[in-house]
Amino acid sequence: MKINQNYANLQESYLFSDIAKKVSAYQSANPGKKIIKLGIGDVTQPLCESVVAAMVDAARELGGRDTFRGYGPEQGYAFLREAICAYYGERGVVLASDEVFVSDGAKSDIGNILDIFCTDNTVLIPNPVYPVYVDTNIMAGRNILFMDASQSNLFLPLPDEALHADIIYLCSPNNPTGAVYTREQLKQWVDYAIAHDSVILFDAAYEAFIADDKLPRSIYEIEGAKKCAIEFCSFSKTAGFTGTRCGYTVVPSELCFDGVHLNKLWLRRQTTKFNGVAYTVQRGAAAVFTPEGRSQIKESIAIYMNNAKTIADTMTDMGMWFTGGINSPYIWLKCPRGYKSWDYFDYLLGELGIVGTPGAGFGTNGEGFFRMTAFGDAEETAQAMAMLKAAAK
Ligand code: PLP
Repeated sequence: MKINQNYANLQESYLFSDIAKKVSAYQSANPGKKIIKLGIGDVTQPLCESVVAAMVDAARELGGRDTFRGYGPEQGYAFLREAICAYYGERGVVLASDEVFVSDGAKSDIGNILDIFCTDNTVLIPNPVYPVYVDTNIMAGRNILFMDASQSNLFLPLPDEALHADIIYLCSPNNPTGAVYTREQLKQWVDYAIAHDSVILFDAAYEAFIADDKLPRSIYEIEGAKKCAIEFCSFSKTAGFTGTRCGYTVVPSELCFDGVHLNKLWLRRQTTKFNGVAYTVQRGAAAVFTPEGRSQIKESIAIYMNNAKTIADTMTDMGMWFTGGINSPYIWLKCPRGYKSWDYFDYLLGELGIVGTPGAGFGTNGEGFFRMTAFGDAEETAQAMAMLKAAAK
C-alpha cells in the first residue's frame, strides 16, 4: 500500500496559526488591551430573515409525513438552479439549469473539478493567490506555472502568449488583492484560452461586492467564455453562508475538449461522488434570490462595503498604495516604510492592537504587502483606521 506522495510536496500552511499565536502572545503580555481584527476572512453579519424563514419552513416540511424528502438530485434542486439561471439572466447571460451544479461551497468544487482533468496538464496560477488552487494541484502532482501579479500590473496579470498552460485560474474580485478584471482584460484571457485550447477556472466568489456596473461579475459576460470557462460561485460571502455551506459551479454545455463535453464529465463525477446539499440549505439559498432576500443581503453587503471604503479612504489619505476596497471586501496595501509583511504585522499588532494578514502568506509576490478585510465590525474598523492615521502623524 502506497500513499499519495504528492502530499509530501505541500508546504505546511502556518499563516493563520502563526497569526493566532502572535495574537495570543500579545494578549498575555497586554492583558485587557483591545485587539481589532481586520484579518478575518469570515463574515460577521448573520443570515438574513428571508433565508432563516425559508430554512425553518423547509425543516418543517422535512418533519411532515407528506412533505418529507430524502435524497435530492445530486446537482441540486431545480428551484435553486432555476433561480441561479434567472440571476445570470439579469446580466444577459443565458444559462440552462442543467449547466448549473449546486454544491456545499466553492472550495469543494474548486478542488473536486480537477478530477475531470488529466494530471499531465500544466496549470497557470497567479502569485499571490487563494492557496486552494495551488495545493489541490500539488496533491494531484500537476506542473504549476506561476504568473506574476505585482504593483506594476495592479495585481491583474494578463496572458503571456509565449507561455502555454492547459488550466488557468482567475479570481475576480480577487482574494487576497481585491483587484477586479475589466471586461477588456477578461476578453484577453478568453481569447488566449480559446487560442491555446485551455480551460479557465473562474472564481467569482466575491461577485456580489462589485458595485461598478461596467465591471463583469461573471466571465460569461465575455463573448466566447462559454467555450473555455468553468465558473465557481458561492453563497458564503454573498449571503453569510460560510457555516451554512452552499455554492454552485457553472459548466456550460458548449465546453468541449478532446471531443468530450465537460458538463457530462462533471455530472458523472458529481452523481458518483456527491449526494447533494441539504434541502433546508438549498431552500435558504433560493431565498437569497427573492426580492426580500435580495434587499436584505444588500444591507449586509453595504455594511462590509462601508468598512472597505473606510479602510480605502484611510489608505488614500495616508498616501499608501493599495488595490481593492471599492468593488471588493479586501484591501491589499503596500507596507509603508519598506516594511516586510510580517514586520508590518508585528508593528500594527504591537503598537496599535490591529490584526491583519501578511501578504507574504499568499505567495512570494505578496512580500511587502498586507491584506485587510472589510468583514469586521463597523465601529472597530473606523476606530482602527483612526488609530492608524494618528500613529502616522
Ligand atoms: N474562493 C475564494 C477566492 C475564497 O476566498 C473563498 C473563501 O474564502 C472560497 C472560494 C471558498 O468559498 P466557500 O465558502 O463557498 O467554500
